[in-house]
Amino acid sequence: MPFFDIDMDCPRCSATLKTYTLEGHQAEVCESCGYAGVAVDHASEPEEFETWQDAMARFRGE
Ligand SMILES: [Zn+2]
Repeated sequence: MPFFDIDMDCPRCSATLKTYTLEGHQAEVCESCGYAGVAVDHASEPEEFETWQDAMARFRGE
């Protein structure tokens, strides 16, 4: 099994997150409030998560 299933709850509304896997990248998506988190592909930290907001903020240099 390439990915282990984690039952994750939405940090915003505690609904169960759905896990999508796209080309080796996982995204945790909440269909209730629109939260989306992505698993950041660090070789040594495969379990680190970064939210889209954090990613966008980083791209903007904030
Ligand atoms: Zn949510």
